[in-house]
Amino acid sequence: ADEPEIVLEVEDLQKSFGGLVATDHATFEVERGTITGLIGPNGAGKSTIFNLISGFYESDGGTVTVNGTDVTNREPYEVAEQGLIRTFQTPRKLEGMTVREAMLIGPRNQPGESFLTLFTDPATVNEAESANLADAQRILEEFEIDHLATQPATDISGGQMKLVELARAMLAEPEILLLDEPVAGVNPTLRNTLAEQIRRLNEQGTTFLLIEHDMEFVMSLADPVVVLNQGSVLMEGKPDEVQSNDRVIEAYLGG
Ligand code: ADP
Ligand code: MG
Repeated sequence: ADEPEIVLEVEDLQKSFGGLVATDHATFEVERGTITGLIGPNGAGKSTIFNLISGFYESDGGTVTVNGTDVTNREPYEVAEQGLIRTFQTPRKLEGMTVREAMLIGPRNQPGESFLTLFTDPATVNEAESANLADAQRILEEFEIDHLATQPATDISGGQMKLVELARAMLAEPEILLLDEPVAGVNPTLRNTLAEQIRRLNEQGTTFLLIEHDMEFVMSLADPVVVLNQGSVLMEGKPDEVQSNDRVIEAYLGG
């Protein structure tokens, strides 16, 4: 029988900030093709785990493996080279940029940062950059937001910005995409649009690890769901198992 293929393996990961243990022997896996949810009360350590996995924080112990390659404490671009891209809970300020330009600067410290020169110095346009521009246009069309391309990025709504963030991450052609609260502060209509887009991308082959506070959103999209509490994995299971688990309910009420 075929073994399930593991895209991301987090093993015994540890991180403290001074006396505060933010990640406490955390262990879990993400199987290829899934939308795996990562939930837990505020301060449970979800964003910290994303930062450790993607190379933005240095861990105190444990390992991170992406597609079979040990990427523990590697630089963000090195992790990205293995096919892992992440978004941030708080979007970057994009003053003075159009949506199209925002697309082309790429995820922070991950591939794509240098494409901004395409707009500041048109003489540097080469074939690779033109191809990237075409990809950006194609992805904006797939997301049905190509009409926003020339608008100032600061003029679009928070929800539309979240869509742009997702679209921009896809430009890096991730195998696994880590989303940190993609619908926080987003209105119900755009929340549905984001859910549809994540589902579409997943059906087309992208694996997701999804942090989200909105339970309805995460439970309708994710399977399995990993529950984090005080830096450790409390349980993992199907959405209905997780939602009806007493320890999970207690962790949320206690948190
Ligand atoms: P979550 O995303 O689950 O809400 P975080 O990972 O953001 O939780 O935070 C987990 C704990 O680690 C919190 O107590 C937070 O204050 C602390 N923490 C996170 N990042 C830092 C940091 N850079 N410096 C100090 N403490 C931090
Ligand atoms: Mg967080």
